Amino acid sequence: MFNALVLNKEEDQKATGEIQEIDISQLPEGDVLVKVDYSTINYKDSLAITSSSPIIKSFPMVPGIDFAGTVEESSNNNFKTGDKVILNGFGVGEKYWGGLSQKARVNGDWLVHMPKEFTSKQAMAIGTAGYTAMLCIMALENNGITPDKGEILVTGATGGVGSVAISLLSKLGYNICASSGREEHSEYLKSLGASNIINRNELSEKGRPLNKERWAGAIDSVGSHTLANICASLKYGGTVAACGLAQGFDLPSTVMPFILRGVTLAGVDSVYCPLKDRITAWDRLASDLNMDQLNEMISTIPLSEVVDSTHNMLSGKTHGRIIVDVNS
Ligand code: NDP
Repeated sequence: MFNALVLNKEEDQKATGEIQEIDISQLPEGDVLVKVDYSTINYKDSLAITSSSPIIKSFPMVPGIDFAGTVEESSNNNFKTGDKVILNGFGVGEKYWGGLSQKARVNGDWLVHMPKEFTSKQAMAIGTAGYTAMLCIMALENNGITPDKGEILVTGATGGVGSVAISLLSKLGYNICASSGREEHSEYLKSLGASNIINRNELSEKGRPLNKERWAGAIDSVGSHTLANICASLKYGGTVAACGLAQGFDLPSTVMPFILRGVTLAGVDSVYCPLKDRITAWDRLASDLNMDQLNEMISTIPLSEVVDSTHNMLSGKTHGRIIVDVNS
């Protein structure tokens, strides 16, 4: 028997979550059984657990879109008992039982080997948000953005994606402008490497099709008018890596930045990202992330505090990364 957070839903009701004892035989099918060490709370977990968005496809569901742990049983050729593994996405915590649990049985094709530089706790300090930040940087690089091209804007700066993105960009030698709605975290953002901080209100209202050219590139986890204003303010040939919707999923833009300034809108998806790019992203995180800064970003909670934390995240009361110690 082991503990897991289980979400149940009555018709037309919001889902409710409680910690339940589960028998291993109740786990879904899969060729790898993992003893989970840590999971995390990402924005998507918060949307799912609070029923703010129809993320969860069936009930009962164990939420949690990521986890790090140790293989207990495997009939998959790529993994053996004792291997340290990471899972991000692939519908886990949405369609398939996820990581907010002491055990998970999954399809081994969804797992990556944990880089030897990380403990399970560090891997989940990064989590899906941090791995997505790395994918965003790879998208900028693939479009020719280098530190000498100019300043990079990071929106949703105090959040999980934003915090890891700033830390990574800083270590890679970029000049960073952070956009945040929370002045009280200015020192935190500077400690991660932001040299310039703007209030997110500067970007959140409907703007003009083209603005003064300002940023060489951007990592946007906010969407909506913010993303439209970023496109309108990128320098000629600039790229924005778009991964999120914290402001909204709409994109009220025009074609002008694309046809007059050759701007690139690079979409970033972590959930079904091909294995090759996942492995590259995790290897790059091992070499490019400042681990001391990562420690500054985290708070660790037990499984029993997950539901409250998801409400706090959506009402803007959290910052950085929230790690869940599923065994405490
Ligand atoms: P967090 O909650 O940790 O961070 C989101 C940040 O966005 C907040 O800290 C806040 O930063 C800012 N924000 C919140 N509300 C608003 C608003 N109304 N308008 C503008 N800014 C706002 O979430 P994550 O970092 O985990 O995720 C960020 C986004 O990226 C989410 O939309 C998530 O769904 C998406 N995402 C997408 C992935 C993909 O595969 N494409 C993978 C991972 C995440 P501040 O207070 O500093 O302004």
